[in-house]
Amino acid sequence: MIKQGDHGRHKWAWFDEPLGFGFQLGLEIESVVFRETTEYQDLVVYETAQWGRVMALDGIMQVCERDEFIYHEMLTHVPTLAHGHAREICVIGGGDGGILREALKHPIDRVTMVEIDAAVMAICAKYLPSISSGAFDDPRADIVISDGAKFIADTNRLFDVIIVDSTDPRGPGEILFTSEFYADCKTCLTDGGVIVTQSGVTMIQGDELTRTVRRLDEHFVDASTYIAPVPTYAGGFMAFGWGSDNPTVRELHVERLTDRYNKTNISTRYYNPQIHVGAFALPTYIANHLEAAR
Ligand code: SAM
Repeated sequence: MIKQGDHGRHKWAWFDEPLGFGFQLGLEIESVVFRETTEYQDLVVYETAQWGRVMALDGIMQVCERDEFIYHEMLTHVPTLAHGHAREICVIGGGDGGILREALKHPIDRVTMVEIDAAVMAICAKYLPSISSGAFDDPRADIVISDGAKFIADTNRLFDVIIVDSTDPRGPGEILFTSEFYADCKTCLTDGGVIVTQSGVTMIQGDELTRTVRRLDEHFVDASTYIAPVPTYAGGFMAFGWGSDNPTVRELHVERLTDRYNKTNISTRYYNPQIHVGAFALPTYIANHLEAAR
């Protein structure tokens, strides 16, 4: 939603994202760079005054140039370095290309990205090229345009890491938060494989986190969550769902993670092995959401 005003000399406009609970995100915008109603959702790209370009789907913030590295690094490197020898990664959603960019930093054979809306990829590649940074053209990137739930249900391929970088549980994204989808993901994971999911912001979507962990808990030996602060995902920490049948994968020592991180030689601006381990140390109110899932 855009609100405009005119303080005499200074015309202003804001992108406002109502988040519920009498709370909203507001970003001062300079212009609407692009707008289209795709086959699946309303897509807008804004030029902001201080936060770079921003893309919103159905009025909900998806990606912001200034702080996207936090989310993309944490949703990608935590499962991949915890796994330790991933060769096949599957990204469900992720149309802006940020997860794909980060996943391709690892010595992996292939990243399969399953995005329902080809327009999101095309528009982000054109108007927010810094997010994908050429990842769509990497020979190890296998781009599939499909509903992620249908792809996972039908494929006979196996993955070491599945990263669900979807929109929120509404519209096309809703199916990616179901127990059936997580059950299908489990059949597509190799031994010791890991699934991670975007699970909303804790102070506003805490029930979503509880629901996600409860559904992961139905299918995986180790269902948990980890967190990171993403300024434009306003409303407290951003939570990530975690599912694996090998609990030791999550409880890694910082020395072993540091050894793996250094061996990959990847550069990061938020992720480091200490932050990796610390991201699983939960504030009590978030730990309570986890307990409520049991
Ligand atoms: N980082 C963002 C967040 O945390 O909300 C998500 C960014 S990414 C743009 C979300 C992508 O999920 C969109 O490109 C959307 O088209 C895609 N998506 C939504 N539902 C999907 C589905 N069922 N299958 C595959 N992709 C889907």
